[in-house]
Amino acid sequence: MQLELEQAKRRPMHVEGVVELPRIAQENPQVARIQPVVVRVDVDFTKSVYRLRAALATEVEYVCSRCLESFTAPLQTEFTERLRVLGTEAAADEDILTVDSPTVLLDPYVEQALNLALEYRPLCRGDCRGLCVECGCNLNERQCSCDTRRVDPRLAVLQDLLSKDDSE
Ligand SMILES: [Zn+2]
Ligand SMILES: [Zn+2]
Repeated sequence: MQLELEQAKRRPMHVEGVVELPRIAQENPQVARIQPVVVRVDVDFTKSVYRLRAALATEVEYVCSRCLESFTAPLQTEFTERLRVLGTEAAADEDILTVDSPTVLLDPYVEQALNLALEYRPLCRGDCRGLCVECGCNLNERQCSCDTRRVDPRLAVLQDLLSKDDSE
């Protein structure tokens, strides 16, 4: 999605577009798929600096970090950015990014904002019970009969010693 910043010189502009970011699913193992991102951006121009305010909306298919089932969740976020075009009189400022040309490709900014907004340990639901460590069944769907509290006999001896230590 390209932005012609100079169109905002006379009056603020509003642009809408769609950005496809398949790389997000390739680089984030917890993301199975991401829908095209709807981008709505407002640009205004003061003291030779362009200010962008963008709202992003999409839908992400996540892989639950406990049960590994996939589920879909809406994702909305926003970002603001201030840009100056190289060679213009805009004052240099740490918070202002310098771009080579007034024609700006918005995709990298959108990708960065989405990466920050993604869930890193997504859960299909808050109380997801995950997979049984013994048989691997999905405990949200059925309760197996495995005893997962079983303790290795060698560890049991150690636990015994530790609890004796505590009491002395
Ligand atoms: Zn789950
Ligand atoms: Zn089990």
